[in-house]
Amino acid sequence: MKIGFIGLGIMGKPMAKNLMKAGHDLVVYDVIKENVEEMVAAGAKSAASSKEVASECKIIITMLPNSPHVKSVILGENGVLEGACAGTIIIDMSSIAPIVSQEIEKLCSAKGVKMIDAPVSGGEPKAIDGSLSIMVGGDKAIFEEVYEILMVMGASAVHCGDIGAGNTTKLANQVIVALNIAAVSEAFMLSTKAGVDPIKVFDAIKGGLAGSTVMNAKIPMITEGNFKPGFKIDLHIKDLNNALETGHSVGAPLPLTAAVMEMLQTLHADGYGQKDHSGIAMYYEKLAGSEIRK
Ligand code: NAD
Repeated sequence: MKIGFIGLGIMGKPMAKNLMKAGHDLVVYDVIKENVEEMVAAGAKSAASSKEVASECKIIITMLPNSPHVKSVILGENGVLEGACAGTIIIDMSSIAPIVSQEIEKLCSAKGVKMIDAPVSGGEPKAIDGSLSIMVGGDKAIFEEVYEILMVMGASAVHCGDIGAGNTTKLANQVIVALNIAAVSEAFMLSTKAGVDPIKVFDAIKGGLAGSTVMNAKIPMITEGNFKPGFKIDLHIKDLNNALETGHSVGAPLPLTAAVMEMLQTLHADGYGQKDHSGIAMYYEKLAGSEIRK
């Protein structure tokens, strides 16, 4: 099948490559030329704009940073909606504010264009091996129509509810991940300062109740002082901002999320916005004047 793919960053590139490996023909677009060139070298066809992608493909996947990018790529000048025809399906896999998914879907639907929100969890390693967790909002019939395409990129794809429900689920995911990294950093700083080797602590507790996917993924990075992204601190600030705004609008106070948001803001102000979110450990390292290293 011919599939359009817009947004070829850390996540988009491996996801698009997996679609090609599964036999799909890809038409791609990104504002960064090198990202497009890498995909063309891998066998994709490049388009000059999001509009051109849409005029060539009935199914279009977007994997962009945040709500304003998705709005401009779909609704803006030379955007998807200008090139799409009735029946085109947009699968937005970016993590954005649920209310914006709802706004965009409404405008698409007025033109007969269908849209679902399908953000992902799992990060770059799972994007590469095609085992992402995909959370979907929107018309269930559209979800079923594109299920096989989603399952090329993911190990699971769950229909969570109406349009926006995928991104609401993703916000819950991002709150848990941020708080988990902060808890792991706080606890490992305690044990490190008290003189116990962090690797011994990890080996001792990872199989117990405190163990987590986050701890397994991030402690090896933290103990090596490797904060190469992965998932950037600035992107997690974006997600927690969307979580706090959504929480306030539905009457769900998020006190722990607000506290971790300030840690991320401190790291951003210190120039670490492009580092991996496991860099929350650096916030604790600054407070304690010590490093969590093996
Ligand atoms: P990224 O910054 O690496 O990639 C985004 C890409 O979108 C870039 O290549 C950028 O040039 C492109 N882009 C921006 N504006 C554009 C426009 N107007 N037209 C065309 N292309 C445009 O980000 P990423 O890490 O790949 O994340 C993408 C989305 O996936 C984000 O919403 C993020 O929160 C989410 N996500 C990321 C991870 C992760 O570990 N990196 C994990 C899960 C979800």
